[in-house]
Amino acid sequence: MTDPPLFEARDLVKHFRSPRGVVQAVNGVSLSIPRGRTVGLVGESGSGKSTVARLALRLLEPSAGTLSFDGADLGAASGAALRRLRRRMQIVFQDPHGSLNPRMTVLQAVGEPLVVHRMASGAALTDRVVELLERVGLGARDLHRYAHQFSGGQAQRIGIARALATDPDLIVCDEAVSALDVSVQAQVLNLLRGLQAERGISYLFIAHDLNVVRYMSDEVCVMYLGEIVERGDGDAVLRDPQHPYTRMLVSAVPDLATAGPIDEVAPVGEVPSPIDPPPGCRFHTRCPRAEPECAGDRPALRPIADPSAGRTVACRLAGPRTPEAVGS
Ligand code: ADP
Ligand code: MG
Repeated sequence: MTDPPLFEARDLVKHFRSPRGVVQAVNGVSLSIPRGRTVGLVGESGSGKSTVARLALRLLEPSAGTLSFDGADLGAASGAALRRLRRRMQIVFQDPHGSLNPRMTVLQAVGEPLVVHRMASGAALTDRVVELLERVGLGARDLHRYAHQFSGGQAQRIGIARALATDPDLIVCDEAVSALDVSVQAQVLNLLRGLQAERGISYLFIAHDLNVVRYMSDEVCVMYLGEIVERGDGDAVLRDPQHPYTRMLVSAVPDLATAGPIDEVAPVGEVPSPIDPPPGCRFHTRCPRAEPECAGDRPALRPIADPSAGRTVACRLAGPRTPEAVGS
């Protein structure tokens, strides 16, 4: 028996009204994050990753779909029940300076979630904040400084300390290291991994850097125009990508060690607008392998034969995909 996942989203849809029409930002995304594991989400800018992150934490209401957290119906929770669930899930954003209130000291910023959730006050609050700061490589000397007095990497450590304050089970990292220099990036990634090993935290780890995602993730989901087009074991997906879109992403990263040369040519044109996405496979307008049928039915995620279990790809042309082939 496998444990039920900590977090599960089913068929999430988010459409935004905009002056130019309805933006189909997220279209039927399902995700499952086991306890103590990391699910990576990759895709070009505009593919819907941040919208998925905000839906997952109920910072945005979905147009459709269900959410569950530790067996509770997160999508239906409200009031005190929602607040209790929210305490157990936190987010770390891309821009550490922008996401920290410039008028708050480190003590106020890191302590705020503890105050909001009435988990500590007075001297106990300060003690707890110092403990959190020390865990992320800062300390008591930093309590009364302001975020702008820190470098990007240090400010992101403050963001992580803040996210840890309520001792969450799930942390969403939305491009959390993307703005940092490579050497600082590595330190922050190792901090996140260390925290996971210690506390069994689950991560939804969003990044457009495939090397970073591969380093961090157990499972990887690849998004294109609001849909997951490929998912599976992180190493398997990024070493031997099967969806033409994943192959395109991977081929653009020369130092990603792949199983063999990827012969895909560069995709044609720009990412289409999510206001008027292409019919059928959304990638077909840019896909080097597209056939006329690809504009027909929208391909579902289907299992492909792979030594790593649970690999699925939404492409009519990907791998052997009959039930017989999957079983063999
Ligand atoms: P990513 O994080 O992968 O770059 P986002 O989730 O931020 O993608 O955005 C997905 C799509 O939804 C984009 O086309 C974006 O412009 C659009 N979008 C996001 N938020 C809103 C909003 N509040 N109103 C209208 N469109 C939005
Ligand atoms: Mg984003």
